[in-house]
Amino acid sequence: MALAFDEFGRPFILLRQQEEKSRLRGLDAQKANVSAGKAVARILRTSLGPKGMDKMLQSPDANDGATILEQMDVDNQIAKLMVELSRSQDYEIGDGTTGVVVMAGSLLEQAEKLLERGIHPIRIAEGYEMASRIAVEHLERIAQKFEFGLNDLEPLVQTCMTTLNSKMVNRCKRRLAEIAVKAVLAVADLERKDVNLDLIKVEGKVGGRLEDTELIYGITVDKDMSHPQMPKRIENAKIAILTCPFEPPKPKTKHKVDIDTVEKFQTLRQQEQKYFDDMVQKCKDVGATLVICQWGFDDEANHLLMHRNLPAVRWVGGVELELIAIATGGRIVPRFQELTPEKLGKAGLVREKSFGTTQDRMLYIEHCANSRAVTIFIRGGNKMMIEETKRSIHDALCVARNLIRNNSIVYGGGAAEIACSIAVDAAADRYPGVEQYAIRAFADALDAIPMALAENSGLQPIETLSAVKNQQIRENNPNCGIDCNDVGTNDMREQNVFETLIGKQQQILLATQVVKMILKIDDVISPSEY
Ligand code: ADP
Repeated sequence: MALAFDEFGRPFILLRQQEEKSRLRGLDAQKANVSAGKAVARILRTSLGPKGMDKMLQSPDANDGATILEQMDVDNQIAKLMVELSRSQDYEIGDGTTGVVVMAGSLLEQAEKLLERGIHPIRIAEGYEMASRIAVEHLERIAQKFEFGLNDLEPLVQTCMTTLNSKMVNRCKRRLAEIAVKAVLAVADLERKDVNLDLIKVEGKVGGRLEDTELIYGITVDKDMSHPQMPKRIENAKIAILTCPFEPPKPKTKHKVDIDTVEKFQTLRQQEQKYFDDMVQKCKDVGATLVICQWGFDDEANHLLMHRNLPAVRWVGGVELELIAIATGGRIVPRFQELTPEKLGKAGLVREKSFGTTQDRMLYIEHCANSRAVTIFIRGGNKMMIEETKRSIHDALCVARNLIRNNSIVYGGGAAEIACSIAVDAAADRYPGVEQYAIRAFADALDAIPMALAENSGLQPIETLSAVKNQQIRENNPNCGIDCNDVGTNDMREQNVFETLIGKQQQILLATQVVKMILKIDDVISPSEY
């Protein structure tokens, strides 16, 4: 492809080997794109909601919209857009990744009908834009405040549990939800209503049970104390972080030491010991109660360290060493002579934890001086379980973060969508132009979410939806949704099923934007098959 300019300076694009490209124009282009988008959405439709199906991909199976799409090998450009859509919802909100794609899919489905009726794509796009604004404003109107206090975390925990409901880990949802809430509060800045999720590290180790997952107020290092008899718990640890070897200098290969008498051997040995003793003393002098070393040391040195009551950890990688230094406010010391009390890192508690009967041990460095960072340490039977738990925890963390940022909520189970659908439908009458068709279509598209939820739970979609919609209008209650779990009430407030207002608004806005984008493409040029 090349860019050229005509005599008036207007740019135009030259396509090489034009005739070899296949090309779709106008309505055909829109129709082809719309059906590609719909195809992707159709795949996700059945995984929506607490009773949604999982998808088996050749890699580990998944039920999270973003994950499924991420792992699907799509090479259609429109399908890629849908993947991006799910990803942006994940990035900005962290939840509602399936819903956003299903919503976009049903907007496309409605658009297809309008296109067939001869409505211009731009008109549809404009109508959708208006309708999305009406819906977002209506959400604002029906939103409620979600109250929680630092001493009353239960509401937050309940919310995170709702998120975990539809995940594979729901067996353990209470514990995971509590961990997520505590983690978010540990790093939250409540005054500024901000949470930096980067401070929460989510780590996993195969083994143990999901129930053993725990929250560590600090960092973990996959190492253990160098000697089994060293203390397993050190309170108020002062840590020397060393990159110099903890051993006497080795004679270089070029040198030759002749040891031909017992005395000579003993002197050498004593010297070595003294050298080492001095090192230990130096650490003790500056007040270190724990030594973390980049290098190893031999058994003799190890024994001496144990004897002199100076716990040590050896073979700690450079990256981990840096992490420890940052968290504990210590400095990495490259030479023993440079060790000073100010360079020691500080941590409220350092403990070694062993796992069951295995040899596996880890070091927890908690309540670090310089960092509020926390670690969620996931245990599980296999790698797949751990990966799935990581994703679920991420969702729960995002939900808790969103509520701290903005505690407005709308009710889930399709309740918010039904309420918006009613509002958008009613507003359509106010628009005299062609847009009103698009606005009505938008209202119908909103209904697709509760319909999918009903269908996935084994209910009759149309009957269930119309019953709930009727109830909303009759009782003027925007909290009625689909009773997916057959609890016996449609009131999502009673069921405690809600989503954040910003999440739902974002879902509607993102889905609309992507559909508008697809509708505005009227020329698809692709290299032909041969
Ligand atoms: P997403 O990736 O979009 O979050 P989910 O599979 O988690 O997709 O499904 C979320 C949808 O399921 C939301 O519309 C939510 O309101 C609904 N939902 C979740 N739990 C329940 C429940 N217990 N009863 C009814 N609807 C629920």
